[in-house]
Amino acid sequence: MERVPLRRQVSSTSPILANDFRALWQKVGGDVQRAVARVGESGWLILGKEVTAFEQSLARLWGLEQAVGCGNGMDAIEIALRVLGLKPGDPVLTTPLSAFATTLAILRAGGRPVFVDVTEAGGLDLSLSREVLTKHPEIKFMVPVHLYGHVLDLDELERLREDLGLKIVEDCAQSILGRQGGRNCGTVGQCAATSFYPTKNLGAMGDGGALLTNDPELAAQARRWRDYGQAAKYVHVLPGLNSRLDELQAAILNHALLPRLDRFTETRRAIARGYYAGLGEVRALEVPVTDLESSVWHLFPVLARGDRARICEHLASRSIQTAFHYPQLIPDQQAMQPAAFEVATPLSVARRWTQHEISLPLHPFLGDVDVQRVIAACRELDLLRL
Ligand SMILES: *Cc1c(COP(=O)(O)O)cnc(C)c1O
Repeated sequence: MERVPLRRQVSSTSPILANDFRALWQKVGGDVQRAVARVGESGWLILGKEVTAFEQSLARLWGLEQAVGCGNGMDAIEIALRVLGLKPGDPVLTTPLSAFATTLAILRAGGRPVFVDVTEAGGLDLSLSREVLTKHPEIKFMVPVHLYGHVLDLDELERLREDLGLKIVEDCAQSILGRQGGRNCGTVGQCAATSFYPTKNLGAMGDGGALLTNDPELAAQARRWRDYGQAAKYVHVLPGLNSRLDELQAAILNHALLPRLDRFTETRRAIARGYYAGLGEVRALEVPVTDLESSVWHLFPVLARGDRARICEHLASRSIQTAFHYPQLIPDQQAMQPAAFEVATPLSVARRWTQHEISLPLHPFLGDVDVQRVIAACRELDLLRL
């Protein structure tokens, strides 16, 4: 049985954090220290046995042939686009509502982002995508994001890929272990990319990421791209990156965190079910409808009907941390000003999300008492007419 740290059960005012890395350390610190010792004692720090072993564990868990550890999730997306043959200026359909890294990876690979609006659940609108892709057959690349851990419609994504001959990199940075209709997210695109940034569902003790694929040739190319474009020592065949997952992070992931991912994901689902049950009658918040069971609940997004800032102030007064995912549309970011990109549809739904979304705390160390405290504080919003 997982034990909830005692202080969480007795205190009604301890802060409820968006992420609790101290609680994580209490749980996994011993295993992390042993993993660090393994690496130190091995005398090998970069691209060694630990990375290979972790890549094998991850690929097996995911049900894909190959995993290639990278320095971070953004590089994994960039490398995936490069090995799929993206050429400078090629258009890449993607979502305007995501971590900026999704689009930045496209830009760094030389692509031209084409933004399409999201659905009422916050994820890329695949029907709109089909319209845009049909009208613009020159778009051959797509980076869909399984945002918040909610898995996009994989059947429709597959039909898009087949009908339109697309090259797809699924951004699974928030959706590791997400399954729908008996298959995993990340298995429809030619490549999947994921991130081990500490806040992610499988978070390392620092940066990390991976590219996954069933195609051994793509994996071999990706291994070159991540390591200065080397085909063999001092033989550089590509203008590659320096983007390797290091032995320390690989060992920590493989020995301390991956073995707990299933249980952590189940806890996330239980918390999401609790929120659904408790927030249904809260007028101040709209809880977007999504498939409770396929999502891995990286975040729990709700939409404020009233003044978002005042709602968050109230929650903060109850020591509850909130966050916005995301407060600005990607094409509106300053860094996009000099970039070549297109906005293919009105982005009104995505814009509504940037203005009204609030992420409630959701991580594997929240106890029942915490979830009930968040729900109670949300119910107070109605009494306060917020
Ligand atoms: C975190 C994240 C990334 C980038 O991953 P890094 O490891 O931080 O580079 C990309 N896409 C999404 C959707 C993310 O959440």
